[in-house]
Formats: sequence, structure tokens, C-alpha cells
Amino acid sequence: MAKYVYFFGSKGTDGDASMKNLLGGKGANLAEMARLEMPVPAGFTITTEFCSVYFDAGRKFPDSLKAEVAAALKQTEACMGMKYGDPDNPLLLSCRSGARKSMPGMMETVLNVGLCSETIPGLIKKSGNERFVYDAYRRLITMYSDVVMEKAEDVEPAEGQGIRVQLERIMEGMKEAKGYESDTDLKAADLKELCEAYKAKIKQVLGRQFPDSPEDQLWGATGAVFKSWNGRRAVSYRRIEGIPGEWGTACNVQSMVFGNMGESSATGVAFTRNPATGENKFYGEWLVNAQGEDVVAGIRTPNPLNEETKNDQNRHLASLEKEWPESYKELDDIRTALEKHYKDMQDIEFTIQEGTLYMLQCRSGKRTGTAALNMAMDMLAEGLIDGRTAITRVAPAQLDELLHPIVDAEAEKDAEAFVSGLPAGPGGARGEIVFTSPDAVAAEKAGKTCILVREETNPEDVEGMRAAAGILTARGGMTSHAALVARGWGKCCIVGAGAMKINMAAKTMSVGGKTFKQGDTITLNGTRGLVYEGALAMIDATENPRFQEFMKIVDEHRTMGVRTNADTPEDARVAREFGAEGIGLFRTEHMFYGEGSEEALFVLRKMIHAGSNDERNAAIDELAPFVKRDIKATLEAMDTLPVTVRLLDPPLHEFVPQSEAAQDELAKALGITVDEVKKRGADLHEVNPMMGHRGVRLGITYPYLTEMQIRVILEGAAELKKEGKAPHPEIMVPVTGMVEELDFVKPIFDRVKQQVEAQSGVEVGCLYGTMIEIPRACLTADKMAKTAEFFSFGTNDLTQMGFGYSRDDIGGFLGDYLEEGILPADPFQTIDQEGIGQLIQMAVERGRATRPDLKIGICGEQGGDPASVEFCFKAGLNYVSCSPYRVPIARLAAAQAAVQAK
Ligand code: ADP
Ligand code: MG
Ligand code: MG
Repeated sequence: MAKYVYFFGSKGTDGDASMKNLLGGKGANLAEMARLEMPVPAGFTITTEFCSVYFDAGRKFPDSLKAEVAAALKQTEACMGMKYGDPDNPLLLSCRSGARKSMPGMMETVLNVGLCSETIPGLIKKSGNERFVYDAYRRLITMYSDVVMEKAEDVEPAEGQGIRVQLERIMEGMKEAKGYESDTDLKAADLKELCEAYKAKIKQVLGRQFPDSPEDQLWGATGAVFKSWNGRRAVSYRRIEGIPGEWGTACNVQSMVFGNMGESSATGVAFTRNPATGENKFYGEWLVNAQGEDVVAGIRTPNPLNEETKNDQNRHLASLEKEWPESYKELDDIRTALEKHYKDMQDIEFTIQEGTLYMLQCRSGKRTGTAALNMAMDMLAEGLIDGRTAITRVAPAQLDELLHPIVDAEAEKDAEAFVSGLPAGPGGARGEIVFTSPDAVAAEKAGKTCILVREETNPEDVEGMRAAAGILTARGGMTSHAALVARGWGKCCIVGAGAMKINMAAKTMSVGGKTFKQGDTITLNGTRGLVYEGALAMIDATENPRFQEFMKIVDEHRTMGVRTNADTPEDARVAREFGAEGIGLFRTEHMFYGEGSEEALFVLRKMIHAGSNDERNAAIDELAPFVKRDIKATLEAMDTLPVTVRLLDPPLHEFVPQSEAAQDELAKALGITVDEVKKRGADLHEVNPMMGHRGVRLGITYPYLTEMQIRVILEGAAELKKEGKAPHPEIMVPVTGMVEELDFVKPIFDRVKQQVEAQSGVEVGCLYGTMIEIPRACLTADKMAKTAEFFSFGTNDLTQMGFGYSRDDIGGFLGDYLEEGILPADPFQTIDQEGIGQLIQMAVERGRATRPDLKIGICGEQGGDPASVEFCFKAGLNYVSCSPYRVPIARLAAAQAAVQAK
């Protein structure tokens, strides 16, 4: 028969810290601390495995479990020298939930279990403290009625009518009537009276008597702990955090120790280092004459732990260090021992009962990104951890915090968001509202910071998006244009704030009843997707030498390459500073967007509207110098590193002039009428351009366009080589699904390469490869690899075509899919490993079967997503490529994947 109960105490502890899955984090660490001979009140853990047994048995305890519990309780009593339910020397217990992963505040705990009419007199006699006993009793009644009698029974009280609130109201009433300020002013007689009033209220509200037997209380509380695993809060928390329901919670039954025994008792929580800054200082809070939950509940301002970590709120209060130096010293020694043992910052709970210190919990503490980095580097310097461990201590997503200015969390606590959307671009931004791209540019010129607020953005808004400090849109998903562009620039951005109504004519936006006009100030938290009125305080996460040091260690452990997606020499330079080892995607068409593109765009339009082949080829020749200039500059910026240049990809209709003036100008240049310009433009219209005449299809109908692009790439490289530089171009053919397409373009590549090399007299190394973004290309990857020397997964399109979701329209249903748990995550942000991942793995296998040294990378947005990076590592990719600001994140994720694989 399975063992479901594990004892912990001063001798004979069954479990240890490695058994988190079975004992839950709390139980495993209590056992570990007991083994380390720390002062842990004895008790036992009923395992997480029992949790499902309990539910399967219809929420009942089998006799075999009752026998196991009885044996462990005996051991506990022996350790503590007290007996549960004994009238003279009663032991009290706590029943505490604890899952594998900490789920703060999501499940239940009941304290002081075992107090009843039979044990109360004995405890009063033994403690000589009647007030303490009734204080403990009223806490038991409160917690038990709330957790066991109401929540666990699925009673759903009306708003503000929960039993706990009703009981607390009675206590408040008494405090008010007696003129008491604090709970601690209540006398023994008051508390005794309160307990009777509580029990009467419970009978009245819940229709049942508060149990007066230690046996009933123990099983009631234990059952409630298990039931709390399936409580509403816990279930929705699990869904958000992706914690499986099968895991179950453990129940820790532990001897009570009392911080509420009077003026020489206290309770507290602490972190072995500062969780906000990482500073190596013991940091915590404590309260005299209190029990556990009082510290976090905020009913009294807790005291500081020591002198050096006092702050403005608690400076006037006594520290444990000063007040009770012996207890402090003992606790500080435990702090050192815990860190040495766990080799990480610990979050601890302690209680002091009449001068004796007890440890009630420890776990690795949650921390901010800044703290994570500082602690990792400090502990490395202290010799506590090695480099491999140090790099696992910072979550890749936490690096975001270090790379962008962020909203001050303290300021945010006191503010209320007026609208929320999808957190599309990280960090924070604040500024004046503008509604158009030109207004944003004008505001920037006038030296103002602004937030560009739009229904949705389109490519024409890029200038305004650049000029704005942040972007807020009413529509669009995480991979909408605004989101992609913003992330690429590391710009704060919130999209899909659907509650926001924009009136472009009046230049106002309103949410609920509130209207904002141009010039009003708002603050965005792009990391959380929240928008606030006014200017909230920001924290500047400036260049940090420790960050650089940390990233150096990261790179020592990393085996997979990290490149960037960059379309301009400036982006290339930024990305290089962030540690990019090449460009994984250079989008040729980007030179036709934004500032400075007018001339090139005009020539491109001439090409698009050409009336004959000759006219078109002439325009292509005219276009060549523009294309060459940009590509050459980028090759130069990335000198010595590879640059993957993708041949022209988008459907040409995107570039057709829409404004009268532009149509007029083009008509003049081509010697045709404006109507003819319009007609030629209209001819290019497609029903579904994303699946229309684009990518390699353009390159096949207009081979001269293909030739021109290949030529200028190779010429640019040849010229740089002659200047003594070391360019590494790679030419990538987009939107291919058949090797025949690659085979059509390949002879052009070969011929042009030969010509360029003959003319320039230098050899230009250049790989010929393809983007893999159509499912058919994955299926036939063995054939594709016969011609392609490299693959680069375009996971945006691959996801789009694999799922059949239009990425621009996913906003319409993504929310529902996520909410209903149909999709675990947005597949355009994190690779769908189950489905799209199979296509990738298949393409890797089949491609490498043909060409063992096939170079394989990924250039979709997901290349900067930590889970996707890990997947790419496991799939055997040579590199990932992502937007410049995500490069450090991808480097860290890749290094962590390598360390974990060993
Ligand atoms: P949570 O996981 O929500 O922190 P806990 O099980 O840790 O819940 O318990 C809530 C509070 O009760 C904590 O502050 C803890 O220190 C206190 N507590 C739990 N068990 C005991 C005990 N045996 N003696 C004294 N205090 C306890
Ligand atoms: Mg706790
Ligand atoms: Mg594509």
C-alpha cells in the first residue's frame, strides 16, 4: 500500500527537499529544515498523491489513512511533549495547504485546530494566559467557519455576506463600542464573549454548529485543505499559470506555536536578501503578540527586522535586532545556514513563542528582475553558486525589466487602470495623447513625450510610432503591426484595448464615462497591458555593468547562435550591441517604408505600374542603386557576421499609390494618365494577397527583378571585400513550397555570382537558401535541401498556414480561445510545439538527411520567446533570430536550454 503520510520533527523525519512533487514545496522544505536541526514544530505531511485519492473516494478519508495519521500524530506528540485533545496538556495543530509550486493566497490554512470546551481550560491553566487562549479560539472559529464550513462546502454568500466578514464585523463593533484601537486591546473577557457571539452567528448564518470535538476539527480542516485545491480561486490561478489539476495539494498538519502569547511572543516573515533590489541584507517584518496572518493582512503596520533596512513607513517602530537581540541573532544564523544550504535567497516565516524561535516555512523567494540579476552575480562572487547556476537564476522574461524603463510598482499600487489591453511591447511610457502620426512627430519636434493612440496602426504610422514614447491601440492582437514594430524597437505598446472608443474627428477617446482629449497625460504599463490617467513615476533601468558581466557568462554556456531581424544599418548596430551574431532576416521591402524612402518608393512604383517588360526592366535598373545602398550599408554594419537577405516578399499592391498627388506624379513620370495609373493599380488587387502573388512567385514572373536583387547583394559584398571588410551575405528565397521554385531561381543566382566574381576579381562567399514557411515545404524538406544550403523557419506564416489563422484577424477570437483554454497561448508569440513544432522537427530531420550540414535557423517573432528558443535548441537549430531588444533574452534562454540539456 502506498505511503501517504510523512513525518517531520526533531528526530525521524521521513521527507526532504527533493520530494517537492510528493510533499509539496512547504512540506518538503519543513522536512529539510527539520533535518538541518532547525527549530521546526513537529508534524506530518499528507501527500499530494493522496489529494486525488481523496477526490476519487468522494471526498472521504479511508481507514488506512486514518491509521497512518494516528501513527504520525503519536510521533508528533512525542516530539512536542503534548497530546492532541488532552484536557490537561493539549497540543494544537495547524492544517496547511502546500502544492508543488507555490500558489500564494490561493489555498487555505486553518490554525489552532483542537481548541474546544474540553481543551480550553487545560491550555489556560498551562499557559497562565486566558487572553491568549481566547484570542487563539476566536481565530480558529473565524478561519474554520470560513474555510471549512463555508468555502469547502461551496456555500456562495452574497457580496459582503461571507461568514468571515460577518464575524469580523462583530469584532469591529465591539472594538468601537469599547473605544479600542487595535485587536491587541481586546481583553480576555472581551474575546471570550466574542467567541460565543461568533458561534451563535455561525449557527444562524450557516445553519450548523461550530464543531466542539478535536477529532471533528482535525478531519474537517484537513478535508478543507484538500478541497481548496479545487476551489474557484485555485482553479483559475492554475489555468493562468499552467499548473495541471492532477498535481494536487499536500496537507501539512503541524504543531502550533504561538506568537500571540503576549509581549514576549511575535511572528514574522523575512527574505534572506532584499527581494526588490537583491541587496545582501536580511529583510523582513515582524509583529509582537500576533499570529501568522496578521503580518500580511495589513491590520497593523509591521515592525522592521533590523536597523539597516528600516524605511519611511516603519522607521519609528522597534526592530527585532534592537528589541530582542538574542532571537535576532538566532534567526540571522538560520538565515546564513539556509542560504548556504539552499544556495539561493529564501523567503521564510518564523514565530517566537515566549522568547523561543520556531521556523514555520522556507522557500526560494520571488524577486524582481533587478534583484535576480544582482543576487546571481553576488552569489557567484561569494562562491555560493557557479556560473551555470547563476545563469539559471534570472528568468529570460525578467531581462525585459532591465532593458526598458518601467512604471514604478509602488506608484502603480495606488493607481487604478482605466482601461486594459494586450501587453504588446514591454516597459512603461507616459506622455500626452496624440491621435495621428503627424501629431506625434510634431510633438516630438516640440520636445514633448507623447503616446500615440490609434484605432489600429498601419505601415503609414511608422514615423509617429517612432516619435511616440508609447503606443496604444483599440484593435489588433499581439502580433499586429503595432505590436511587431513596437517590440522591434523595444517600445512600450498596448494593443486591443477594446473598451476605448476613439473619435478621430474630435480627437478624443473615451472609456466608460470618461473622455480624454489630445494633450491629456496618460501612463502605459506595456508589460501588464494597463493604462492609467496622469503621469505615474517611472524607474529608469539604465545600462548596468553587472548586466554586461552576466551576459558574458551567459554566452560562455550558450551553444546555439542568436541573430537579429533588422532592416536598417541602425537596427543592425543596436542589435550588435545587444550581442546579435548576425542578421537572420533582412527584409528588402522595408527600404520602401518610412522616412527617406520616398525616392526609392517612387521608382518601385514605376516598376509596378510599368506598361511593358522593357519599361519594367528599365525601372528595375533604376531601382538597383537604392537596394544596393541599403544592403551594402547593412552588410558593412554587420561586418564579419552573416546577413540573411530575403528577396522581395510582399504583394506589390501594398505599394500602389493611394493619394491623388502621388498618383499624379507617377502619371507624369510614366507619361500616362492618372486614370491609367489607377487602373494599373487596381489590376494588382487580389482577394487574398497574403496567399497571392508574392515571394518567390514574384521572383519567377519577374526574373529580372530577382536577378537585380542578387546582383546588388553580391556586388555590395564584393566592393566591401575589396575595401578589406569581411561581409557574409546569405540569400533567402521566401514563400517557397516546392524545390522546383528554388531550382528556377538557382541558375540565376549561379550565373550572377559568376559574373560578379569575374568582374570584381574577388570571390564572394554566399549561401543560397530558403525560408521555410509553408507546410508543404516542411513535408518535402528532403527535396528542398537538395538545392537550399540553409533553411530559416518563418514561423509567423508557418503558424498562419498550419493553423489556418490569419494573423491579422486572430484578435477576433484569440481572447475566447485563451479564456476557454482551447489554445494554451497565442501561437504567434510562442511556437505551438505540438502541431507547428512537428512541422519544424520534420523539416529539420528531412532536410539534414539530404544535407547533413544544412544550416537551420528561425526568423519568426517567436525566435525571441524563451519557450520557443528552448524548443529550437532541442530541435537542433543552429540559431534563432529575433528583434534587437529581444536578443539578450534569446541569448539567456538559449544558454539555459544548453545548461539544462547537460
Ligand atoms: P500560506 O501558504 O498562505 O502562507 P501557511 O500555511 O504558511 O499559508 O499559513 C498561514 C500563516 O499561518 C503563516 O503566517 C504561518 O506562519 C502561520 N502558521 C502556519 N502554521 C503554523 C503553526 N504550526 N504555528 C504557528 N503559526 C503557523
Ligand atoms: Mg506561508
Ligand atoms: Mg512570410
